[in-house]
Amino acid sequence: MDFVKAKAFTAKDVDHGKTTLTQTLSGRWADTHSEEIKRGITIRLGYADTIFYKCPKCKDPECYGSKNKCPNCKSKTEEIRKVSFVDAPGHETLMATMLSGSAIMDAALLLVAANEKCPQPQTREHLTALDISGIKNIIIIQNKIDLVSKEELLENYKQIKEFVKGTIAEKAPIIPISAQHNINIDFLIKTIVEEFKTPKRDLKKDPILLIARSFDVNKPGSEIENLIGGVLGGALKQGVFKIKDKIEIKPGIKEKDKWFAITTEITGLKTGNVDLKEATPGGSIGVLTKLDPSIVKADSLIGSLAGHQGKLPEVWDELNLKPHLLERVVGSKDELTVEKLKKGENVMLNVNSAATLGTIIELKKDLIHINLKIPVCADKKDRVTISRLIGSRWRLIGYCEIV
Ligand code: ZN
Repeated sequence: MDFVKAKAFTAKDVDHGKTTLTQTLSGRWADTHSEEIKRGITIRLGYADTIFYKCPKCKDPECYGSKNKCPNCKSKTEEIRKVSFVDAPGHETLMATMLSGSAIMDAALLLVAANEKCPQPQTREHLTALDISGIKNIIIIQNKIDLVSKEELLENYKQIKEFVKGTIAEKAPIIPISAQHNINIDFLIKTIVEEFKTPKRDLKKDPILLIARSFDVNKPGSEIENLIGGVLGGALKQGVFKIKDKIEIKPGIKEKDKWFAITTEITGLKTGNVDLKEATPGGSIGVLTKLDPSIVKADSLIGSLAGHQGKLPEVWDELNLKPHLLERVVGSKDELTVEKLKKGENVMLNVNSAATLGTIIELKKDLIHINLKIPVCADKKDRVTISRLIGSRWRLIGYCEIV
């Protein structure tokens, strides 16, 4: 079955109807960062996997949905696409963190409320984020069409068209829906299936897992012989993980001011509560290991990469970067201009699933040299985002290439 990951770029403070939409699409959306307890394993992830179905009998109109039975003719429907939704935070300080996750995103949904003037500040922010992330597969969803007149709907459509002109979303289809009243959801699903083709995954590449969580699943007081090894949560960026694979985790853990890579063996693989024999890119996975649970507890390995021993990218504790700064600070209320970087300035960098602070120690024409507080494991091709402390918050100001 095809598999696509889509990012739902929606605002939390401004209620564009994200929760209702994802509930309607997936039927079992857990709200962002809610605790999901399955088979004793607690996995906190802001995502939902769903399967889209198509009725083999209904032709005019074709019937798409998220149920295994056709709502029109009651036939058994066919599975056509599995989609994993990752929620994008509405909170601006999380924007850079979210962007670093776009390394594993294939597509994005930009949600706009038809009963509000477009763009709202956060819609603007999300579009900037999409521009930076380079995600080209975008569908714009015009939600809450039940709350406006036909004239208001067309006016809102014009505002959206004007807003996305000249951006990465310029050619994105705009689909009017009401998630609340289940209007046009079948057409939205059809559009997702047709517009978001499953990318070709290169399974021959060395596997790289972006670690987004790490945890101890044992209940307090468990007998030693019953202890389950540390679990890694995240997504494969490339390659295949199999049970019994010998893996390495970098940069790993810090002991007495030094960072150590960790090696272990995969003892199990899961997606949601389903056991896998092997895991491929697409959707979030849990990797069970032989690691001492105390090493992985409380997300201690967030930001590290896991891969086959000796096959991971380099670990950097300083970086030469070529920055590309934005014109305006993302998330600032007064549309602040991005000022030049300064020698001695502290910045936050996000790469893969890692966030690290750094100090600019050298500044040449188009290049900066940065000392990192926490080392990162990254390939030269990986996208690095750069944020600056403005007021009391880290604000995204651009992205960098590693040189
Ligand atoms: Zn049917």
